[in-house]
Amino acid sequence: MSKIIENEKGEIWVGNEKFVTLLSKEKIQARVKELGEQISKEYQGKLPILIGVLNGSFLFLSDLVKNIDIHIEIDFFKLSSYGDEKITSGEVKLIKELNADINERHIIIVEDIVDTGLSIQFIKKILKNHKPASVKIASLLVKPESLKYKTKIDYIGFEIPNEFVIGYGLDYAQKFRNLNSIYALSE
Ligand code: 5GP
Repeated sequence: MSKIIENEKGEIWVGNEKFVTLLSKEKIQARVKELGEQISKEYQGKLPILIGVLNGSFLFLSDLVKNIDIHIEIDFFKLSSYGDEKITSGEVKLIKELNADINERHIIIVEDIVDTGLSIQFIKKILKNHKPASVKIASLLVKPESLKYKTKIDYIGFEIPNEFVIGYGLDYAQKFRNLNSIYALSE
């Protein structure tokens, strides 16, 4: 397979589609550090479980926990994804359940991006059956213009326009998750 090439303008071409840099790796790392510090302060004296939503959140979760200096635990949900499409199917399925017992535990859901808010709403419904002590949501990205299901996001990395983005965990047909920066599809 060929290499991923970024030109001097910070653009990546995928066939005839152009992706331009939206958030540099430096900007992402600085914001993730702030979020980690905030979580460390707010959960002093508690032992939260950070629940990553696979696959997209894996890089955000991994950088976030490196910036948290209190004890934490980690678990994962896996939801069905967009498949190879750029727009949501409007259908969410649970592919992997939690391993941890989250009864009476403080939960932080860690998402890569909140688009319509459907996935978060789906997860919140599942969590209700488990009776956690508290539930907060952290999302690296939020697209406020495309939110259809109103949900409070407690820790937001960046609000972004309603554009399809790739990189830093976010895929295009399963690829490009390994980019350090985030790129938006340019019209
Ligand atoms: P929601 O359920 O909020 O509509 O969508 C959440 C999920 O859709 C995210 O976890 C992510 O997997 C996917 N998603 C939403 N917007 C984008 C995007 O711009 N790029 C990519 N690669 N995935 C997205």
